[in-house]
This record gives sequence, C-alpha cells and structure tokens, in this order.
Amino acid sequence: MTDRRAELAARLAEVDQRVERACRDAGRGRDEVTLVVVTKFFPAEDVVHLAGLGVTDVGENRHQEASTKMAELPGDVRAELRAHFIGQLQSNKAAAVTQYADVVQSLDRVKVARGLARGAQERGRVLDVTLQIDLEDGADGRGGVRPAEVASLAEEVAGLEGLRLRGVMAVAPLGADPVPAFERLGELHRAVLEQHPGATWMSAGMSGDLEQAIAAGATHLRVGSAILGSRPPQR
Ligand SMILES: *Cc1c(COP(=O)(O)O)cnc(C)c1O
Repeated sequence: MTDRRAELAARLAEVDQRVERACRDAGRGRDEVTLVVVTKFFPAEDVVHLAGLGVTDVGENRHQEASTKMAELPGDVRAELRAHFIGQLQSNKAAAVTQYADVVQSLDRVKVARGLARGAQERGRVLDVTLQIDLEDGADGRGGVRPAEVASLAEEVAGLEGLRLRGVMAVAPLGADPVPAFERLGELHRAVLEQHPGATWMSAGMSGDLEQAIAAGATHLRVGSAILGSRPPQR
C-alpha cells in the first residue's frame, strides 16, 4: 500500500466509525446513510485509491475540475462510482455536467433544471437531482432555493423529462449551530416528500457536522477534509 492510500484508508475508517456511532445513537441503520466523499482539489489518483477502499460515491463542486478528473479515471473504476455534482451551476454549463455526473445535488433554479433536463435527454438518460435549499434565506450567497420557493421548484423539476427528483440538500450556515438548521431542513424535506414520495434523499452533513445531520435524518453525507485532508482555501 502506498503512503497516500494508507493515509486515506485510516481517515476513511475513522469517518466510518463516526457514521456508525451516530447511526446507532440515532436509532438508525447504517445502511440508511450513504457516504459521498468530496474529492474537490484532490487528484484522480486519490479517487482511484478511494474506490479501491470501497468508496462508491464521490462529490465534486467545480465543473471543469470534475469533468477532467472523471475522464482521467480508468474505465473500470469510473463504472463503479456514482459521481455527484455538488457545486454552484451556471445555467449555460448545466447541460455539460450531464456528461459525467450521475447525480446533481445543487439544483436551485428553474433555468438550471431546464439545462440539466436538456443534457440528460440528449444523452438518453435520466439524471438524479436534489434541490439545494438555502437555509439562510438569501443571507450568504452560497446558492440554494429559498425555503418559500421549494415547493414550486420541486413541482417544476418533477415535470421535466430527463430528471428524477430524489430529495433535498443543504449546507449548514457557517459558524452557527447546525442542529436547528438540519431540523429545519428535515421539515422542508417532509413537505417535499408529501408531494413527491420518491424524493427520499436528504443530503446534509460534512466533516464537522455529520453526527448532527444523521440525528436529523440525513440519508447522504458529503465529507471532504476529514478523509482527504485539508485543502487550499476556496475562491
Ligand atoms: C466541500 C464541500 C463539502 C465537504 O466539506 P468538508 O467540510 O471538507 O467535509 C460538502 N458539501 C459541499 C457543497 C462542499 O462544497
């Protein structure tokens, strides 16, 4: 085993233990929660190591980087992985993301939804999507649909051929207690579920708050630095 692979194996095992413990504390099954390992800023070789260590889902947040990295993966590795796009999307890039993304978690407006639907249809496939909800209601500019507009966006997305509405996603507000934020997300998720019974996913929880997310009902975690190590500051 290379040093890097051993390092990734050790951190992945630590995160797995945290996830397992949090599931037990919440009275949930470990199989209710999918770990998406966020590999942004790290090379394709790391993705190959992670796949070899049993990782099934990876996340990326920049179109150019994700596109290049996914194309660099050996075909057999790529075929075994589900690639989640989790970053902000411009509507003119949306169709291109469907070249490599199996899931787009960061869908937050109708224009982007239409671009994704067009790309998926051109490729004759169906794209899984979750709606990114802005839990700060416009205060931070990190993207996301405002809570008051979730229902209408969900309706719009559900009506588009090429997209399958799988659920909701959010990032906890920076520097604030994640517990009320994730509880709010859980409520918004239940409202979406009432209208769209297939939208069972709730993507929440990162390196620092995955326990709170699991307690609030998260089905998908997006964990980067706790597994890959620290990365250069973004933007
Ligand atoms: C980078 C990123 C993550 C992972 O964050 P960590 O704190 O490194 O675990 C999760 N979600 C989104 C949307 C991200 O951009």
